[in-house]
Amino acid sequence: MATHEHLMKTYAPLDVTFEHGEGAYLWDSNKNKYLDALCGIAVCGLGHAHPAITRTITEQAAKLLHTSNLYQIENQQHLADQLAEISGMSRTFFSNSGAEANEAAIKIARLYGHQKSIKNPGIIVMENSFHGRTMATLSATGNRKVQAGFEPLVQGFVRAPYNNVEAIESIAENNNDIVAILVEPVQGEGGIRIPDADYLNKLREICDKHDWLLMLDEIQTGMGRTGEWFAFQHNSIQPDVMTLAKALGNGVPIGACLANENAGEIMQPGNHGSTFGGNPLMCATASTVVDTIKGEELIANARDLGKYILNGFSEKLSAIEGVREIRGLGLMIGIELDSECSELVKLALEKNLLINVTAGNVIRLLPPLLIDKQQADVIIDTVSELVIASLHKKAAA
Ligand SMILES: *Cc1c(COP(=O)(O)O)cnc(C)c1O
Repeated sequence: MATHEHLMKTYAPLDVTFEHGEGAYLWDSNKNKYLDALCGIAVCGLGHAHPAITRTITEQAAKLLHTSNLYQIENQQHLADQLAEISGMSRTFFSNSGAEANEAAIKIARLYGHQKSIKNPGIIVMENSFHGRTMATLSATGNRKVQAGFEPLVQGFVRAPYNNVEAIESIAENNNDIVAILVEPVQGEGGIRIPDADYLNKLREICDKHDWLLMLDEIQTGMGRTGEWFAFQHNSIQPDVMTLAKALGNGVPIGACLANENAGEIMQPGNHGSTFGGNPLMCATASTVVDTIKGEELIANARDLGKYILNGFSEKLSAIEGVREIRGLGLMIGIELDSECSELVKLALEKNLLINVTAGNVIRLLPPLLIDKQQADVIIDTVSELVIASLHKKAAA
């Protein structure tokens, strides 16, 4: 038997090991079956062991895994073409993770600032945001727990409250060094916080007015999750820069930093790089992810089932005392309680359902894009029962 004695203590995993999966289901080492309403934190949008993904990985592995960016990579060019088509963006840099995609975005913003002769370019970032665990991205993150102990932080980030346009305008008035805004269209780790419908439009206007880059972190919201390919497509705007990762490779590590025609010209040879970034295996897999989301019409499914689940929860939970708010966009769903509820993760596991709690008191559901109504009903019923039972217990105590 393997132990965790030789693993660094960065995680405190639950006492369960999954051996295989199929679609929205996982099986543990004792052959128990679970419904996965988290899909590896918004990664396995196509569920587990999707045959198209398995075929692409095995075929590509048999051909070629890696050559380096010293040579042309056809799969990388093809994926960039596909991403340009579905996003309207112009150029892509490929990385291995979300944090690295954001690092590329931050470097683009700084180069952009220096091109404008701004010596200390600043990027506006939000309270309760999450952008990753590297030094620059944890400095951009709006969560003290992520930063504590890692000081000195990377300079050049200016913090503003989320969903507050006036705060951004007042920074614009007082700070001539700002070059960009980095923001999540829906805050994921921060508790599935959905801003006002015109928030991104207003940020776009401010960025246009001041010549700032609008940089969207769509690492969690992208690839169909919210019922559009990208969450910004719920608005009538285009960002200058957008980052992706999580669901892009359905479990094969890949990140991407996309930029529009102007911002896409900022990076020049020698400015940035990655040994693995954009290798043939990861790009072939991500191309199949794009094709499969299209072919199986999963974006429409995310939209429909998202509404269905949201309605289900509203019916069962909105009148319950202790339930503060139920919110969602596509299959990114949060149920905020008025008290800490992380114990629900384990209780759900005992009911063979995988869920997550973020920001202490928000149940976060990120089921695969291909779930059906029957599976959605299981999620609605199981989570509602657990919430009601746990609130009862707390009220009695
Ligand atoms: C997960 C996440 C990241 C970090 O991605 P990693 O692949 O873990 O580095 C950054 N931004 C957002 C919005 C995320 O959800």
